[in-house]
Amino acid sequence: MADFKPTPIEEIGQIRNTLKKGYQSGKTKPLEFRRNQLIQLGYMMKDNAQRFKEALASDLGRPHQETEFLETNAILGEVKYAIDNLKNWTKPEKLPFMFNWFAMRPTVRKEPKGTVMIISPFNFPVVLLIGPLCGALAAGCTVLLKPSELAPAFAALVAELVPKYLDPDVVQVVNGAVPETTKLLEFHWDHILYTGSGRVARIVLTAAAKNLTPVTTELGGKSPVFIDPNSDLRLAARRIMWGKATNSGQTCVAPDYILIPRDAQDKFVEELKAVYAEFYPTPIKESPDYARMVSVQHAKRAEDLIKQSKGTVVIGGETDVEKKFVAVTILKDVKFDDVLMSEYDSFPESHVFRLLIANSSELFAPILPIVPVQDVDEAIAYVNDHDHPLALYVFSQDDKYKAKVFDNTQSGACLANELLVHIGTPGLPFGGVGPSGSGATTGKFNFDTFTHLRSTLDSPGWVDKIALGVRFPPYTQDKSNW
Ligand code: NAD
Repeated sequence: MADFKPTPIEEIGQIRNTLKKGYQSGKTKPLEFRRNQLIQLGYMMKDNAQRFKEALASDLGRPHQETEFLETNAILGEVKYAIDNLKNWTKPEKLPFMFNWFAMRPTVRKEPKGTVMIISPFNFPVVLLIGPLCGALAAGCTVLLKPSELAPAFAALVAELVPKYLDPDVVQVVNGAVPETTKLLEFHWDHILYTGSGRVARIVLTAAAKNLTPVTTELGGKSPVFIDPNSDLRLAARRIMWGKATNSGQTCVAPDYILIPRDAQDKFVEELKAVYAEFYPTPIKESPDYARMVSVQHAKRAEDLIKQSKGTVVIGGETDVEKKFVAVTILKDVKFDDVLMSEYDSFPESHVFRLLIANSSELFAPILPIVPVQDVDEAIAYVNDHDHPLALYVFSQDDKYKAKVFDNTQSGACLANELLVHIGTPGLPFGGVGPSGSGATTGKFNFDTFTHLRSTLDSPGWVDKIALGVRFPPYTQDKSNW
């Protein structure tokens, strides 16, 4: 496995200049060049799929099949989609015929933004670093990649492979943590795509503001699950358990808490217990199908949260902090003022893990509180009183119930009877709203993020004789009646 080596800070300016010059050389403009880079990117991921799985097993204890389903296969789909659609996406868009304007041939040119930076988190680094790279290459940008230092095996592998597969004038990797990213943020970039916590997003946005660098933010938040008590509870339990256990709860769109009418809570807990026993017939700690927390500190934070909660543990609860293990832990009778539902600011000032709290209140751990409510109206009111989440889930077979929740709430995405998989659904934008992020990635939206829509027209002289001549003084009465 390749060694993780932070990039020397004094080299960062030169790396950025290489990419600037690469862009200015114009080599990324021809579609053939972009297509070749995308094909190379596809080979990089295909040839090394096994190494990526091993890297993520090393960083996150993640089962290979989980990486395959959610990352390595998904990225090949994303690259292929970009290659197949490149010509279509990049085609200039001519406006429909308008009598007064047609002569000027108004057109929208799809131009690369320039030299861009992609900063990614640790949890799904393939889709969150290589995915946006695919969009940026399709758009014709030159790209600085900054993977998370918390997934060092992945970051080292990317640093090893990128120069072997991709043009070094076009893609470069800077590895490191806060000092390296701080240095990178001193420079002007033509765009930054930042994926990570709201806390760090504030730092990135503040630094970017100094250089007037536009930023797309892909953040997190507490994604609620509404359960209709009359729905198929076994189906809900199975999918929710999967959505929570995946990557040991370290998923930006993981279900963060359950809202269910009080009298249906115990029935639902029984369904969850049955599914848990089915998924993990051996103790979950020994299961090869369950990932670990990314660090001892993250495991400790999760353990603290479980201990501090006043809810009743009905599933899991076991932890082994040194081994970064936290079992899927489900708690019932959790109240809205519980630590698991708390806002960032309610953590004690001295709390040593405060800085690890990702977004204001997201758990980002395999902990799932069940919050009993009186009815769906109370649940909707609670959600609307808090930050718009990245995803909102409803389990119901009743169209009116689903419509009521969807129509009266806001979130990055809203799914019925499903979780997580919208990220990999071709054609759907993936992004947040307000505190859960701005802008979108995946597919065409990924391309759009790194593309400037440049308005253009070309006005012939005779236009002044028939239409636009009215703009010139003297402003006589006949011109104003035109
Ligand atoms: P993070 O914010 O701690 O780190 C993300 C990146 O920022 C890393 O590359 C890191 O090196 C860098 N960074 C950290 N501190 C910095 C600082 N002070 N200055 C400059 N750069 C800094 O996020 P994380 O813990 O790696 O990931 C978890 C968070 O990411 C969660 O909030 C999760 O919801 C969010 N997330 C969002 C999405 C999405 O697509 N919306 C996807 C995955 C994760």
